[in-house]
Amino acid sequence: MDNPQPIRALCLLSGGLDSRLAARLLLEQGIEVQGVTFTSIFFGARAGERAAGQLDVPLLIEDFTPTILAILAHPRHGFGAGLNPCIDCHIAMVRRAGELMREHGFQFVSTGEVLNQRPMSQHRKALQQVASESGVGDYLLRPLSAKLLPETEPEKRSWVDRARLLAFEGRNRKPQMALARELGITGYPQPAGGCLLTDPAYGQRLKDLKTHEGLDIIPILRLRLGRHFRVGAVRVIVGRNQAENEQLEKERNAGEYLLKAKDVPGPSAILPPGATEDELQQAAALCARYSDFLPGQPVVMEIQGPQGPRTLAILPATPDMIESRRI
Ligand code: SF4
Repeated sequence: MDNPQPIRALCLLSGGLDSRLAARLLLEQGIEVQGVTFTSIFFGARAGERAAGQLDVPLLIEDFTPTILAILAHPRHGFGAGLNPCIDCHIAMVRRAGELMREHGFQFVSTGEVLNQRPMSQHRKALQQVASESGVGDYLLRPLSAKLLPETEPEKRSWVDRARLLAFEGRNRKPQMALARELGITGYPQPAGGCLLTDPAYGQRLKDLKTHEGLDIIPILRLRLGRHFRVGAVRVIVGRNQAENEQLEKERNAGEYLLKAKDVPGPSAILPPGATEDELQQAAALCARYSDFLPGQPVVMEIQGPQGPRTLAILPATPDMIESRRI
């Protein structure tokens, strides 16, 4: 058997408990570990950085935004409960790790995946798909479930001692937590807490954006800002507090409409340049609803837009109208 020294593993390090444990199991076997983590407009690298610090291993941080946007447009394996294309996402991350493995001479790639832990992306068939469609194949090791999976090249070649790998399976995380205590691993985040795509409410907004406007970065970044409504063909964003009102006003693009109540305190709202008069009036009613209006009285709204400033007196939207247009 070939026996390079040292054995070098490239470990996907999201920073969650499982990826920390998987990397730690390899370190315990004397394997040199390099972490790689991915960052995008939907998830960050902070947990991965903390994990690398705790494990005392170097970390590569890769920008994943273009890749995840392409996946969101056409996910081959579909979405989870939110707008999370987890199988395709795993495949793309492992594929990139495979490229790095070949470029930098690592012997294999390792992940913290646990058989049957996540219904969409970690059942046996999904794990096989990730290995084969990523092109990493038998050079992909899952130390936490290795004993339940076919032997991989690192095990066959005795780079890794299979006897010291584990047979974790399913959603019960108690065995991982017990192992973390034993190994002194602390401060890990809650599972799947770091990806916006798993949040059903956020997924709903993103789905609406994808359907009506396409997935460009600036509108995606705006999804986290304010209340969102679909009015005819346009999206209306209404600030929820002073900071958001100021941000909306500051980030308003040339030609976008800006709405706010003239004589009473209330939020700011923006909508795109192509809005029709009907859409503008509906947006004004929605925005007025969040102002300090007097019941039964119209609110005078100031409108700044491509045709110059004007005012519009409008009755605030009813609760039904609010709910039917909320994204
Ligand atoms: S939770 Fe988010 S980052 Fe993780 S695999 Fe799914 S889509 Fe990718």
